[in-house]
This record gives sequence, C-alpha cells and structure tokens, in this order.
Amino acid sequence: MINEIVQELRWDPILGEWVLVSNIREYRPWRKEDFCPFCPGAPETGFGWNTLILDNKYPMLSQNPPKPTSHRFYTTAYAYGRCLVLIETPQHDVDDLSDLGVEKIVEVFNRVRELIAKYREDRFAIYLLYFRNKGVEIGVSLTHPHSQIYILPFIPAKILRELINSNNYYRSRKSCLFCDILREELADKARIVFENRCSVSFVPFYAHWPFEVHVYTKRHTQLLTDLSGEELYDFAENIFTILQGFKKLLNKPMPYIMVLHQAPLKGRYDFYHLHIEIYGVYRISGRLKYAAGMEIGGGNFTYDSTPEKAAEILRNAIQKY
Ligand code: ZN
Ligand code: ZN
Ligand code: FE
Repeated sequence: MINEIVQELRWDPILGEWVLVSNIREYRPWRKEDFCPFCPGAPETGFGWNTLILDNKYPMLSQNPPKPTSHRFYTTAYAYGRCLVLIETPQHDVDDLSDLGVEKIVEVFNRVRELIAKYREDRFAIYLLYFRNKGVEIGVSLTHPHSQIYILPFIPAKILRELINSNNYYRSRKSCLFCDILREELADKARIVFENRCSVSFVPFYAHWPFEVHVYTKRHTQLLTDLSGEELYDFAENIFTILQGFKKLLNKPMPYIMVLHQAPLKGRYDFYHLHIEIYGVYRISGRLKYAAGMEIGGGNFTYDSTPEKAAEILRNAIQKY
C-alpha cells in the first residue's frame, strides 16, 4: 500500500511554533554502507568542483510542496522552501571542516552569501538557516564534510525569541543587546576564547551546552552578506581556531552543532546582531551531554561545570599544537 506523501507545516498552538512534518524520508531507499553520495563521480555530484550545493534528496521542504492537510481545528501551511546540502570538499576522508583551513571556511561562507543574495529576491523565502552537524555521536550518518542550508517560509523559533528580546532591549536602552554583551565579555575576559581584529568568541555567561562558544563580529551587522572581505576572513579564522581547539580538547574529536544566527531575509532588523553559535556536546569529563528531562521536558538547561572553566580549558587546548 502506498501512503500519500505528506510534507507540510503544522502549527503547535500551545508552544506557538511550527513543526516540519514529512513522511518523505520513509521512501528513502536502503543505501550500501560504503557508498558515499557526496564523493566526486556519485550520480548527483559529477567532477570538477571544490564545493558543491545539492538539494537534499528527502527534504522536509520543497519548492512545489503538496497541498497541506486542511483540518477543522488545527492550522497547517505549505512546506514551501528548500533543504540544501553544501558539500565542502571533494575529499572524503577529512575529519572536520577546520582541517581544510581558514580559506575553506571563507569559501563555504561565500557560497552561503550567494544563497542569501538569491533568496532575498524570492518572495516566499523568509529565513536562511545555515548549520553544520558534526559527529556520529549526534546522529550524522554521512561523514563526508558537509553543512546544510534550510530556506524557510517562517522565522525559526529560537531566532524569533532572540529578535523579540533584543528588540525589547533596544527599545528600552537604545543600544544593541549583543554589542553590550560583547563589551561585558571583553571587560571580564574570563570567558573569552579568541579575539582577532574583527571578531570575538566567548563561552557565554549563560552557556547551555558544555563547550558552547558564540562568535560575534565586532561591527554591528545583521546578515552574512554585510561583512567585508576582511571581516569574513576574521570571522572564519575565529571559527577555525575554536574547531581546531575542539580537536585537542579531549582524546577524541568533539561532536558539535554550529549554526548561523542572522536577521531574516526581508525587513529591517537594525537592533539585531549576526553571530555564530557552536555547541560542543562533550562535557569536560568526555561524556556526552544529553538534553533530557529538564532540558527537553522543562526547557531549561543544567550546566555541569562553569562557563569560565570551559573557556579556560578551550583556551589552553588552542595553545597546544
Ligand atoms: Zn564521500
Ligand atoms: Zn550589535
Ligand atoms: Fe543566537
């Protein structure tokens, strides 16, 4: 029996956020263990590229989504959008993006910048979410280096929360919440991880994940496309330094999630400030931090050590060579 393909957005009226619902992955054929669809010469990749952007074969969003369920009570919406995979290198056996150097991170961001420019012109595209999941420990099945880009028809819930809080702050204090945090972190020094001319990274005072690092541009900007060449290079170098530090932190590579938080594609968000968040999920002890009862069930994180200690350990790892 063939079920109907469902690919739609369903509104959670209690939490006030969208859920991306799709059974399309159930149609994913079994894949041979040793076959990598991201290597040069695979059916969709071809040859002669340094970075490659492909559509996710089993996406949650589509440029031609089916008609969503119409329900007497619940709200649904078209799963309009796009799920892209950015293959970062033709080389298969590379542990991490940072092993490819700062220039490679710049190249990846330049591809993301091209997509931002493109989708700012697309009237259905509201938000571009760039993220990178690293490590089999957090469920990454394809180890060939890649990141992902979701073109969304809504502002993601976490970004929306940041926009609301930073807008409230801006309206009452007439200054940017992120710029003020940056000033406080630079004054305290204890949680700073790395600083160069145009960017600063730190473990936030209120970090959620064991090795959570945020990278801020020193200049107040909203979109990745706003950065000058020098700013982009420094931003990439900062990320490179953190990720290389992650590799030396424990006697095994650090699984992490990295996500770009920038303004929505349409409208003015002068009060917002672009940044990258990286969540290293191993604790100082080397054991995985799971989001469980308190975190998933209650919505608040428990932090096992102190962010100051985590920053110190990461700074020391960065000094090692
Ligand atoms: Zn491969
Ligand atoms: Zn700012
Ligand atoms: Fe953020």
